[in-house]
Amino acid sequence: MALIVQKYGGTSVGSIEKIRSVAERVVELYKEGNQMVVVLSAMAGQTDHLIKLAQEMTNDPDPRELDVLLATGEQASVALFAMAVKSMGYEASSLLGFQVAIHTSRLFGKARIHDVETRRIKEELDKKRIVAVAGFQGLDRRGNITTLGRGGSDTTAVALAAALNADVCEILTDVKGVYTTDPSICPKARKMDRISYDEMLEMASLGAKVLQIRSVEFAKKFNVPIHVRSTFSKERGTMVVAETEDMEKVLVSGVAFDKNEARITIKKVPDRPGIAAKIFQPLFKAGIIVDMIVQNTSEDGKTDLTFTVPKSEFRKTLSMVTQQAEEIQAEKVLGDENITKISIVGVGMRSHAGVAQKMFEVLARENINIMMISTSEIKISCVIDQKYTELAVRVIHTAFGLDDDQGEES
Ligand code: ADP
Ligand code: ASP
Ligand code: MG
Repeated sequence: MALIVQKYGGTSVGSIEKIRSVAERVVELYKEGNQMVVVLSAMAGQTDHLIKLAQEMTNDPDPRELDVLLATGEQASVALFAMAVKSMGYEASSLLGFQVAIHTSRLFGKARIHDVETRRIKEELDKKRIVAVAGFQGLDRRGNITTLGRGGSDTTAVALAAALNADVCEILTDVKGVYTTDPSICPKARKMDRISYDEMLEMASLGAKVLQIRSVEFAKKFNVPIHVRSTFSKERGTMVVAETEDMEKVLVSGVAFDKNEARITIKKVPDRPGIAAKIFQPLFKAGIIVDMIVQNTSEDGKTDLTFTVPKSEFRKTLSMVTQQAEEIQAEKVLGDENITKISIVGVGMRSHAGVAQKMFEVLARENINIMMISTSEIKISCVIDQKYTELAVRVIHTAFGLDDDQGEES
């Protein structure tokens, strides 16, 4: 008998029929003698729909009330799922974040899990019930409902698996596992058998939304292996696990891309101490996460400063920076929302030179201009014009030997 935590994403519970078949799959495992804790997302499109409603109500929805609203999506899913299980003649109990309880920070909309209580879930399991837990939500110290950021149900599942010391943590979704790149834009993407936590962390933070970044951080911290697999088949998926030596043999494991950043350039910034601090301070204060930053060498004491921010913060950032630019007497501020950050990831890069060069050459061959570059030990990212995203992903994928028909090694 095992304690299994499973999480089903939005498309997996997108209709009454789908919720019913998820319930059947869970009951099957329960009948084999396993204890089942099932984390559910809101039905497909529901979270977007709720966000739209809030925006129709007001331009600037109150973050606390927005979280109360968004949490209802997952509430509906767990209730319907528990009904489905009961209608099949088995015992089930739905629990919301605050009932579990999942304690989080107070940052509405992107709260972080601090602690997960297990008493209530264990009581329900002892009563031989299948436990359905609403993903994506928790409560802060004052009892306010919080949500964990888009894709947050993954993190709920991993946090529960860690707290309950579960035998298995499965993330069930609409693809068969973690692929070398997003299979929806690259038909030659290959499903990986395994990927290390660090590579998965990079892939997730560079745009592969198959797992929320926080869920991978949690898994790494508490050493929870994650099995990412399909809701619609029994096939084995991808294991996200600690790094093993043989993983270094592969130079590049995956290609990720992110269309959700925007670029801001401040032209002719006076090149003197304290200027960068002055420009970025209001952004940090407003909680805007600045990603890549490039500053040119100065000419006549003036330099250009370029950086990227999430597209959702673009307008706000632009107006803040325009004000700062005037104060420091920079020439002008330019903005560009039509960019993509394209990245290659692989632990094998640590010990090999020339990987970046190859990526630049491949893009040059297609006449794709690189606007910005950043590197770390296990990743290289380039900012390019958004219209070349798919082409760039495909040619890089092929160049590094990742195509499905190219075998394992690159
Ligand atoms: P869920 O609703 O189950 O949480 P998501 O939509 O959040 O599912 O994540 C699954 C999606 O992630 C896939 O449909 C796929 O398009 C996308 N994706 C992006 N990069 C990858 C990748 N490298 N491997 C697998 N899926 C990826
Ligand atoms: N329903 C939330 C979202 O759409 C959380 C999740 O699906 O993981 O982002
Ligand atoms: Mg998701």
